[in-house]
Amino acid sequence: MKTEVKSTCCYCGVGCGVLIETENGKIASVRGDPEHPANRGRLCTKGATLHLTADPTYRLQYPERRALRQGAREMVSWDAALDEAAERFAETIRAHGPDSVAFYISGQLMTEDYYVFNKLAKGLIGTNNVDTNSRLCMSSAVAGYKQTLGADAPPCSYEDILQAKVIFIAGANPAVAHPIIFRYVEDARAANPDLKIIVADPRRSESAEIADLHLAIKPGTDIALFNGMLNVLIAEDLVDQAYVAAHTNGFEALAEIAKSYPPAVVAEICGVEATDIVKAARWFGGSAASLSMYCQGLNQSAHGTHNNAGIIHLHLATGQIGKPGAGPFSLTGQPNAMGGREVGGLSNLLSAHRDLGNPAHRAEMARFWGVPFVPSKPGKSAVDLFKSLKTGEIKAVWIACTNPAQSLPNQAAVREALQTAEYVVLQEAYGNTDTADYADLLLPASGWGEKHGTVTNSERRITRVLPAVQAPGEARHDWEIVVDFARRLGQKLDHAGAAKLFPYADAEAIFNEHRESTRGRDLDITGLSYALLESEGPQQWPYPEGASSGKVRLYEDGRFPTPDGRARFVAIEHLPTADVPAADTPISLLSGRMRDHWHGMSRTGTE
Ligand code: SF4
Repeated sequence: MKTEVKSTCCYCGVGCGVLIETENGKIASVRGDPEHPANRGRLCTKGATLHLTADPTYRLQYPERRALRQGAREMVSWDAALDEAAERFAETIRAHGPDSVAFYISGQLMTEDYYVFNKLAKGLIGTNNVDTNSRLCMSSAVAGYKQTLGADAPPCSYEDILQAKVIFIAGANPAVAHPIIFRYVEDARAANPDLKIIVADPRRSESAEIADLHLAIKPGTDIALFNGMLNVLIAEDLVDQAYVAAHTNGFEALAEIAKSYPPAVVAEICGVEATDIVKAARWFGGSAASLSMYCQGLNQSAHGTHNNAGIIHLHLATGQIGKPGAGPFSLTGQPNAMGGREVGGLSNLLSAHRDLGNPAHRAEMARFWGVPFVPSKPGKSAVDLFKSLKTGEIKAVWIACTNPAQSLPNQAAVREALQTAEYVVLQEAYGNTDTADYADLLLPASGWGEKHGTVTNSERRITRVLPAVQAPGEARHDWEIVVDFARRLGQKLDHAGAAKLFPYADAEAIFNEHRESTRGRDLDITGLSYALLESEGPQQWPYPEGASSGKVRLYEDGRFPTPDGRARFVAIEHLPTADVPAADTPISLLSGRMRDHWHGMSRTGTE
């Protein structure tokens, strides 16, 4: 019997909708969902070949444990596995405190999975040691948006790409990393021959091939470029003074700094022609609608937050935000990095865009969860988490849906940390990842085509994901594993209310709790439900109770989610830090993406 089920592609933050065809209980094929607003039926090679990765031969199907690191694995029951994990975590917490354990999770998880992991760490155990592989790609974007616009909310939509008159791609290569977004850029070019495309990238990347202007800047000189463009905007009277006066703070201080970045100076720093910097600024400032798109080239830097602020400044200075075809648009790496950000699934964030450093926000979440407090001390972020594992400060780690032994920088140190750790739990769909070699306990999780819940893509669009087939063997959904473990751990820690903290019978109950946590916040989704997402299709946030649709574009009224409603310019300077090559360095090594492979290759590099 054949059926077709709606889901999403699990590879990148474009969040394309897919229709999974099953035949006799097995995934037979996949095609783009013509009704999904993100892709309207299109898929790139990765998405179109998803069904080929559904082979269960290398799937983890049963809980397994090993007595000796890298030794043989033996199958155990779920009860035995989770009791052991709960006992080892409880022992560690009793002996060394809540901060001696940590969770390292993934932008691949559903929002519901993320929510319960976050609640387990921050609510039940009392540690903020929960971080994610999204840290490596998106934390600079989060901080950049918050610092300038007041909230971690990409203001644009994919339809803005089609309406833009100037597209400025900086530190991104969507032709390879976000192919369906690049199809929008190609469509925009086909519809409007006057469209100007600027690409700032040290390499002549695949995306640069379509550019009218390629700024091949030296690695790490992004801030100099953005400040230099601002210098030109000011000098040529292209600043929207009325917008700046009515809706922003801090422009004068940045304008003073920008005086030190005339085109000739910036040309020297960036290694590009001064006339090209002037041209880029004129196009950007003189256009009716300028859209920027950026990703890891800005984010993965010693000054990633300032890189993000630098490009956002150009929009604030020219009023190119909150109107069709305009705005700063960070492209999300993983399929649900956005969902993780929404539930506060990072070591320095709290649910629904609350700040861990804000006592009122911590008190709100403690009340909401019914726990005495949420700890104030920030947890360890991804790289520090593994450093602390190596030093013994963190003794037990729970890794879910990610492969740090292969994908984190400085792999030798990460592997040493995993080898040194007292206890490593790996919750995974695949049994053959590099990290699996270091796990004391392996817990089989459901994978793409089997999972259910919700995900959010780069344009704030939430899609309901439905399972097409059952997970193989005894694999369970990620949220189920966490909830079962949390209840057992609560008992071991004599936490009388643990079962009440994790009462969920299904993923929908978790979604509903998360939904309530957003009430009154900038990402309010109190108007959404599983039923609505299924009947009306994917929706953008905010979507508060009583609304009939989500918001396509943020900040149309020029009001920002800051205490005084104004966006902020930040006084940023170009600094020759480690990611800027020294004058006598002949070669720069840059990381990039392979178009048809999944980041860590655990899905696409098996044959
Ligand atoms: Fe999947 Fe991204 Fe390709 Fe869309 S663009 S099919 S989400 S990998």
